[in-house]
Amino acid sequence: MAGTVTEPTARTATTLADGRELIYYDSGAAVPRNAVDRRPLDPRPPASQVRRDPVTGDWVTVAAHRQARTYQPPAEECPLCPSRDGRLSEIPADDYQVAVFENRFPSLAGLPGELTGGLRTAGPGAGRCEVVCFTADHDTSFADLSESRARLVLDAWTDRTAALSALPGVEQVYCFENRGAEIGVTLAHPHGQIYAFPFTTPRTTRMAARASAHRTATGRNLFDDLLAAERADGERVVLAGEHWTAFVPFAARWPYEVHLYPHRRVPDLTALDDAERAEFPGLYLDLLRRFDRLFGTGRTPYISAWHQAPAAHRDELALHLELFTIRRTADKLKYLAGVESGMDAFVNDVSPEHAAQRLREVAR
Ligand SMILES: [Zn+2]
Repeated sequence: MAGTVTEPTARTATTLADGRELIYYDSGAAVPRNAVDRRPLDPRPPASQVRRDPVTGDWVTVAAHRQARTYQPPAEECPLCPSRDGRLSEIPADDYQVAVFENRFPSLAGLPGELTGGLRTAGPGAGRCEVVCFTADHDTSFADLSESRARLVLDAWTDRTAALSALPGVEQVYCFENRGAEIGVTLAHPHGQIYAFPFTTPRTTRMAARASAHRTATGRNLFDDLLAAERADGERVVLAGEHWTAFVPFAARWPYEVHLYPHRRVPDLTALDDAERAEFPGLYLDLLRRFDRLFGTGRTPYISAWHQAPAAHRDELALHLELFTIRRTADKLKYLAGVESGMDAFVNDVSPEHAAQRLREVAR
C-alpha cells in the first residue's frame, strides 16, 4: 500500500505487544521508528457481533467488551502521547508526527464469517477500528496543525483507506474525528478514528438509494447536480477553492453543518489527484478555525466525517466531508431527544442560510 502515499511521506509499520499493528507516517526523509512496545498487555478482547434490525434493515454492532475501555484519563496517563520518561503509552516512540494503530478496544475486528438468517440476521463483528494520532502534542487540536501536518494526515487517511478496503469482508471505510468532551470524546489528545465496516452504513445506504432514484428520474448523478446547484446559487457556500467547495446543505440537520466536496466526483480518498490533495489542507483548516470562532468560547465541539463510497456504490456516491457541531449557542448544545432519536426526524434551530452567513463572517 506504500504506493498510495504521495512522496515524500515515509511509512513505517510495527507491531504492539499484543499483536496490534501500528504505523508511523513521517513527512520528508524516513525517520528510524524502531522503538519496541515493552508493556505487559492483556490478550485482545473477544470479538463483537453485528446484528441486522429486521424492521429497519440497519446494522447494529454489539461490542459489550468496550465498557472496560479507558475513559478520560489524566493527561499524564494519556495513551496517545509518545512513550517518554519511563512512561509507556500506545506509541512506543519518544516522538512522532502521525501515528495510526489498531484500537485496543475495537468495535470491529477480525475476519468475516457466516451470517445467520431470518429475523435474527447476525454475524461476526468483522473489520477493523484504528486510532489516528494527528500530533505528539497533547495540548493542541487539528485546527492548530500546520498545512503540511494536515496533508500528512490526509496521506495517512488515504493509505489506510486503500489498505482497509482490501481486507476480506470490509465494505466501507470511514475516517472521522470527534472533538470535544461534549461529543463524548474519551481521550483529549488530538486524534481521529477509522472504522472499516463489514456492512454499508445506514446513512450511506439511504444516500445510495437516493442517488439511484435520481439517476432513474433524470439520467444524471445526484451529487453532480447538487454541487453544481449549490455553486451556482452561492447562498449557502461558505468557501470555494479551485478544486473544492464547502457549503451548508439546504436541509442541514445540525445548527452549524458544512459539506466539503471536491469539484471532480471521486468515490474515495484514494482517487483524489495531486492538485486536489494539495488544496485540501488549507481549506479544511480554514473551516475548522471558523468553527472555533463561531461562539467566542474557544474550541467548538465537532464531528468531522468522511463519506466514502462502499465497493457496491463507487459509480454513484461522491467522496465528501461532513463537518458539524452540536453547539447551537455559546451555552447551549443540541441534544438528540425524542424527535431526533425516536424518529430520525431532525429539528434545526438555525436556518442553513444564516449558518452559512455566520461561517462566512468569521473568516478571521
Ligand atoms: Zn496525549
